[in-house]
Parts: sequence; structure tokens; C-alpha cells
Amino acid sequence: MTALLEATSLVKHYDLGGAGLFGLGAPTVLRAVDGVSLSIGAGQTLGLVGESGCGKSTLGRLLIRLLPPSAGTIRFDGQDITGLHGAALKQARRQIGVVFQDPYGALDPRMNVEAIVREPLLIHDDGGDGRAKVAAMLERVGLPASSARRYPHEFSGGQRQRIGIARALILQPRFLVCDEPVSALDVSVQAGIVNLLQDLQTDLGVAMLFIAHDLGVVRHISDRVAVMYLGRVVEQAEKRALYAAPMHPYTQALIASAPALSPVGRAERRSRRARVGVDIPSATAVPPGCRFHTRCPQAMPVCRTVDPVLTEQAPGHAVACHLYASHV
Ligand code: SF4
Repeated sequence: MTALLEATSLVKHYDLGGAGLFGLGAPTVLRAVDGVSLSIGAGQTLGLVGESGCGKSTLGRLLIRLLPPSAGTIRFDGQDITGLHGAALKQARRQIGVVFQDPYGALDPRMNVEAIVREPLLIHDDGGDGRAKVAAMLERVGLPASSARRYPHEFSGGQRQRIGIARALILQPRFLVCDEPVSALDVSVQAGIVNLLQDLQTDLGVAMLFIAHDLGVVRHISDRVAVMYLGRVVEQAEKRALYAAPMHPYTQALIASAPALSPVGRAERRSRRARVGVDIPSATAVPPGCRFHTRCPQAMPVCRTVDPVLTEQAPGHAVACHLYASHV
């Protein structure tokens, strides 16, 4: 696979200042993203999954340079975009679209739909008939062209997300980050948005990072899936392999507790979920060794001291867990 986007050892730490009275104690560091390497091929979709606070949205923002990384590199189409600024960054961003989680907050209520969707064309001095492009894109996302004259408050949540998708795609980007695009929507409209994104991805050949907290949501849309825990990718594989034979105990727990994926009843799902607990350690106090060891039902003594490295165990299937290490 030739990578369109490639991240290497990406880190995003936040210095929260000194602890204790007058902030004179040891500095507190929030390790939002803590050494992530991944790649996404042209036209491919990578699903990125993990619980709230695991760093997946921060990682998405780092990849498209909405946030500066603390360390690591990001390459897009072979170009190192990690340190780009000004006009060079703007030029790189032309190739990248983003769909945000909150379809209410992401749209300026004072602008009509045409102005919202057309704005990226103006920012990037894109010539041609912007009005016609907006009308065509609205129809492409399932809204009538007449929507252009209306305002965001006149639309439902699902329709607003379609407007957000139209805006993200108006420049025909090669890479699209969808940051939990359905988690703020009613379950009844989620499938419509996921299907729309999948159709657009196929038609336009755009590569996609689809972020979600539920493995069930990314199942159909992804080619590959990466599972994130406390700032790290702990398992990454081709979709079929990951769902058929998850290797990391955390991935196994996520699958066991997802209603769409686990054939067992609600009580059994709750019981499986309870086995890994719900107390996620803070990103300011990441446990030593394997960061999942405080919740892992299969933890061994080595897990408390040695940090497992993400290692390929089968072609294209990598996992960070001592259960698969030869030295254990
Ligand atoms: Fe569990 Fe140990 Fe594997 Fe971590 S390394 S997931 S604690 S078995």
C-alpha cells in the first residue's frame, strides 16, 4: 500500500503546570497522544476506535495539522507537513476535509447554507461558479439545491451533518477526517450518514479517517481498523481479521460489549464489560508497563513493568500485548 498519509511516532503532550500549593510540585503532563505511528493509503478508510478520552480526536486533529504535535512527523502525499506554516500549510490543507462531531456547533448560525458550503472555495480562491458547485454538492449529499437559501436552524441534526459533509468535500479533498460524525445523532439517522459517507468515499476515491467510540459503527465503512487506548494504538488490522479474531484483550472487550457485534444478551455484555472495569486511568497518570494492565483480566507480572511494543503478529495485523511476545 502506498501511503497517502503517514504518521510516525506522533506525540501530543500538554503541560498542565506544577501540582500542589502555588504550582510548585512536579509538573503535570497530560499525554493525549503518546507515540502513534499509522498510515492510510489513497482511497482507503481507516476506522479509529477507543473510549472517550483515549486521544483519538486529538490524533485526528494532529494528522490534519489543526494542532501542532509535540514530537513525531506527518507526511502527506510524500511531503513532510509537520512544520508547515502560512501559505504552505494552507496549500496542504486544500487537500484535506474535516467533518466534526457536533452538527449544531460546527455551522455558523448567521450564515445561510450556501455561504457555509461555499466558504472553503473563497478561502482557497477557487475560481469557477461557486453557486453551481454548492448546488451540485448539496444534491450529492441528499439535500435539495434549494436548501442553499436556508439557515442551519431550519434543519434536523442529520441534515445539518449532511451540510457539514458538503462543506468538507466542496474542494474535492483527497483525505477526509470524520471525527465521530454520527455520535451526536439519533440512532435512527446514524446509518443514513454512515451509508452516505461510504458512497461518497467510493465515488470520490477520498481516503478517510473515521473516528468513533464504537467498533460497531466503523465496521462497515472501514478497510482497516486501529484501536486506541490511553494515547496509543494497541491493535491495528484489516477489518475482517480484527473483527473475526481480535488479539488485544481491550479490543476483545470492546467487541464483547458492542450490541451490534456481540450476539449475547445485555446481561452477558454487561458482565463482559465489568471484567475490564470502567475506571479508565487518567492521561495525566498513565500506568507503567502496559497501560491497560490495571483493567486487563489477563494481566501478568511482566505487564506491570514492561511496556509492550506494537508488533506485527500476522501480515498486516499488529498488536501491543505481552500475551503474544516470545519472551513471556
Ligand atoms: Fe493485558 Fe498484559 Fe496484554 Fe497488557 S500486555 S493487554 S496487561 S496481557
